[in-house]
Amino acid sequence: MNCRELTERVMALRAGELNLRARLALQLHAAFCDCCRNLLSTYDTTVAVSAELADREIPEAVSLEFEAMMAAAMAAPVDATVADADDSGGA
Ligand SMILES: [Zn+2]
Repeated sequence: MNCRELTERVMALRAGELNLRARLALQLHAAFCDCCRNLLSTYDTTVAVSAELADREIPEAVSLEFEAMMAAAMAAPVDATVADADDSGGA
């Protein structure tokens, strides 16, 4: 078990889809890995907060502001400077 494998299986772990052997392997790895313990904690917090927010209405002012921002973003020309950047030339 490594960090990548744990990351790939977090959702299955929390959904109860892993067998005992897989769960134990994840828990053993997390016991010795700060990064994966933080990942599991953050995942659980995100799920809890998302569940709490699911029933809330979005305030109309926020919704309108978001729609305006999206419309502006869609109307703006695409900035292709990154994709087309060519630093191979000289001065
Ligand atoms: Zn890890």
